[in-house]
Amino acid sequence: ATMPPLLSAIANAGRHGVLVKSAAVMERLGQVDAAALDKTGTLTEGTPYVTEVRVLRGSGLDDHGLLALASAAEHPSEHPLARAVVDAARARGVGVPVAEDFTSTPGTGVAATVRGRKVAVGSPIRMLDQTRSPDAAALVAELETEGRTAVLVEVDGSPAGVIGIADQARPEAAATVTALASLTGTSPVLITGDNPRAAERLASEAGIADVRAGLLPQDKVAVVRDLQSTGRKVLVVGDGVNDAPALAAAHTGVAMGRAGSDLALETADAVVVRDELITIPTVVALSRRARRLVV
Ligand code: ADP
Ligand code: MG
Repeated sequence: ATMPPLLSAIANAGRHGVLVKSAAVMERLGQVDAAALDKTGTLTEGTPYVTEVRVLRGSGLDDHGLLALASAAEHPSEHPLARAVVDAARARGVGVPVAEDFTSTPGTGVAATVRGRKVAVGSPIRMLDQTRSPDAAALVAELETEGRTAVLVEVDGSPAGVIGIADQARPEAAATVTALASLTGTSPVLITGDNPRAAERLASEAGIADVRAGLLPQDKVAVVRDLQSTGRKVLVVGDGVNDAPALAAAHTGVAMGRAGSDLALETADAVVVRDELITIPTVVALSRRARRLVV
């Protein structure tokens, strides 16, 4: 028997390195007419690296001490920023202590007890009171002006330092945005938990005008629902635990496989296994062709 068009399209998507989970998904992919893309790990390569370690005066720590505490708290986390912090500690010859009572809050950061001290590492937007900690706020602003993701390190409830992290846009990010814009008839939206300046910088490299930054996981869902309330069928692409609710709310959710979290991979309708973003518009086009053959 000749294979039904949607099944051949699934096989074809597989050859492009995209795992499409069902024929129904293969069909839905071609219906999307809007796209919302995550930043870290989706439009960026997802291999961020530490560029600056800044210690606040009065913290009683030097940069190695700060990195030791921060990397210990980050060690259990699967977030790309966590890997960057742990790698930076190791690269500087800083031993990574063992952490206890680890907790992780998607879109915010991590916390743990290290050497008897309470350590939290994460988003300044969520953790920092600008007026109570003007020195920390100034450091964050300085790093963010450089387009960095600034991560705050808090020890025993007080800001102790800030770590600057950079992540490169994927080489095919701009081409993917252009292709999705032409296939859906609307420019994609950037949805990120990162700060607005880092988000704007990446967006301008990728050719995205509509930037929504500082979002919690449920805020990403709200952006998707908002687009869908105008009758649009939204494609969401993401990789993190923080993207899972938006992937579930999407008309079609696609996860980046290589560095993607298990939750994102399980929640998504399709997974980019070969780690090339440009395969997503390719698969949307495959779906459209198959659907023309079906009807
Ligand atoms: P994105 O939406 O760009 O993928 P996330 O929602 O995962 O980003 O994270 C948003 C912000 O929360 C990050 O920019 C960072 O400030 C903070 N954050 C989240 N997880 C961590 C972590 N493990 N370590 C440090 N910061 C984190
Ligand atoms: Mg991400």
